[in-house]
Amino acid sequence: MPAQILDGLKIRDQIFAELKDEIARLDAQGIRPGLAAVLVGENPASQIYVKSKIAACEELGMASWLHSPAATVSTEYMLQLLRDLNADDNVDGILVQLPLPAQVDSKRVLEAVDPAKDVDGFHPVSMGRLVSNRPGLVACTPAGCMEMLRRYGIAIEGANAVVLGRSDIVGKPMALLLMHANATVTICHSKTRDLPEVVRHAEIVVAAMGKAGFVQANWIRPGAAVIDVGTNKVTDAAEAERLLKNFPQRLEKFRAKGNVLIGDVHPDALFTAGALSPVPGGVGPMTITMLMSNTVKAARLRRGKSSVVARQ
Ligand code: NAP
Repeated sequence: MPAQILDGLKIRDQIFAELKDEIARLDAQGIRPGLAAVLVGENPASQIYVKSKIAACEELGMASWLHSPAATVSTEYMLQLLRDLNADDNVDGILVQLPLPAQVDSKRVLEAVDPAKDVDGFHPVSMGRLVSNRPGLVACTPAGCMEMLRRYGIAIEGANAVVLGRSDIVGKPMALLLMHANATVTICHSKTRDLPEVVRHAEIVVAAMGKAGFVQANWIRPGAAVIDVGTNKVTDAAEAERLLKNFPQRLEKFRAKGNVLIGDVHPDALFTAGALSPVPGGVGPMTITMLMSNTVKAARLRRGKSSVVARQ
């Protein structure tokens, strides 16, 4: 039997409905949550990401502002922009779209964001709160993965969980979140020995490596829950044929379009996993959803009156 699909679009719709209720409650207090996005230069992928984030704000009735300095911007300019956004009370969340150009000191810029407005959860203060399991703003992609597991009723407590990848934005916070939810967590990276054997012990697998179809179907323990964070654009016909040989409709689409989005998990894992987040339509929509959720949360914590119960 194929795996249950962990449908990111469906959960996004549920969470958007919940957020709309909360935004209406804040509106009754004269508060309109707002997100300021900073997009440097003209990277087409970044432009698409930022556009979809602004569109999500509009769909939810939140305020949004787009700042788009030229690719030649200096670190000093960026720091001043962030000081201005930090000081603007209407701005609840600040999003600096990465990557920044080489001449900009990305770490200094990210550290200049007021932690109370750090809706990406990348600031060291946010990371520190996560490490010590204190309330705060958590990085959107791992927070979205946790939301998926919870909303599909996947047992986390006591489970063996394997996280593939140890980046600051996905792997590390993901492992911490699973650990705080009482999973027994193994973190793997490019130097891990005998990866297939490690993965075979996992009841929960989170793959965030950036390698198309790398995790083979026969590494997955039958029935395991698999969250595929990877988003890899495959353009090579032989690779697409190899990955999609059991998915003729997707292969047809690839032939028509010349590219296909593939996760880090081989699509055949559909036949071994118990539950699987698809690519596209799994973690991707959850990331934007959690950005919206973090912005509303930041508005509530910064500006909400005491009548609003501060949820974690
Ligand atoms: P990253 O910073 O490049 O980190 C990749 C991690 O994978 C590293 O820790 C690396 O190990 C590990 N790795 C690479 N090759 C490996 C191998 N052969 N075996 C085991 N581990 C290996 O990537 P990232 O930013 O975390 O993103 C990971 C993927 O998620 C990418 O495809 C990205 O596009 C996707 N992503 C998707 C979303 C979404 O919203 N859907 C959001 C963020 C990221 P080392 O540390 O040893 O180098």
